[in-house]
Amino acid sequence: MEDLGKNLTEQMLKNNWGQRYNALIKEVLADKDVQMFIRSHDKLTKDDILKSFSKLYEFVNVKRQIAAGKEVFIPGYSPNLIISDHHIEVEYIPTKELLAKQKQIELNRRFKIISLPKNVRKANLDDYFTNNDDRRVALLKSLEFIEKYTANKNEFCKGLYLCGSFGVGKTYLLAGVANRLAQKGVQVTLIHMPSFAVEMKGSISKNSTLQKIDEIKKVPVLMMDDIGADQMSSWFRDDILGVILQYRMQEGLPTFFSSNFTMEQLQENYLTINSRGEAEPMKAMRIMERIAFLADEVNLIGENLRNSN
Ligand code: ADP
Ligand code: MG
Repeated sequence: MEDLGKNLTEQMLKNNWGQRYNALIKEVLADKDVQMFIRSHDKLTKDDILKSFSKLYEFVNVKRQIAAGKEVFIPGYSPNLIISDHHIEVEYIPTKELLAKQKQIELNRRFKIISLPKNVRKANLDDYFTNNDDRRVALLKSLEFIEKYTANKNEFCKGLYLCGSFGVGKTYLLAGVANRLAQKGVQVTLIHMPSFAVEMKGSISKNSTLQKIDEIKKVPVLMMDDIGADQMSSWFRDDILGVILQYRMQEGLPTFFSSNFTMEQLQENYLTINSRGEAEPMKAMRIMERIAFLADEVNLIGENLRNSN
């Protein structure tokens, strides 16, 4: 069997097509993949091979270009020999790299990040370390949510309200959950609330406020990161946050939060006092009721993990 390629080459060369063509035949038939292909298709006659020689040549040539890192006519695909209707054909199959890239694009489309560093995309629940009870509970509840929600998207699932100090890993956990959901085909948006408030302020002059609210409120799973980290206006509280939460409550759309404040602190320190320093406890309570309807409070206590990795 080892000599098959050699035999064939010799036979073909007898035809004496000229030096250049002979050199090509030698080269193509010396290719390991071509040899293996011919060997595993013993019904192929010398004639068949000769007729399809241009295909074998194409195969070897493209393979060589890819190996040399040159640009090929369909990037991301690698050639493969097949038999189609007694002819040899080259099919192009997506490379592992292309498939991985396409998958990543698909994931990025599902997991939308607004005003947060791109590296949160890398957050992975498999790497989430749980060195204390709080982290274990938070991870467990997150996994429970993912399981329950993906099993039946029509049944309302409460999200989580993660509270804990700076650097404890709130954003990381939210992003980890978002990634896992995106892998399971769910659309998730993780939004940095202080930046969102600034963006909404800017949207007034552009007349795009309603459209932006609409986009955010309808996301299947919404995660509001760092709520309470800025100073909020009554307008943002009632006309933006209130509207979004009201809609999500009515529609039963899962919503997550992260904050340095507990729910109680958020209500008293953040939602009650407006930017003019006035207390509006009733309005704060209404917002808090919606948050509490949408999410369960989970405390995260632990060391500051920033700059430790
Ligand atoms: P927070 O949002 O609570 O301020 P972050 O989520 O930004 O904290 O986390 C701080 C740093 O620690 C980040 O660099 C993050 O990637 C990392 N980190 C946080 N929690 C974990 C964890 N459980 N496992 C691995 N890395 C983590
Ligand atoms: Mg954070």
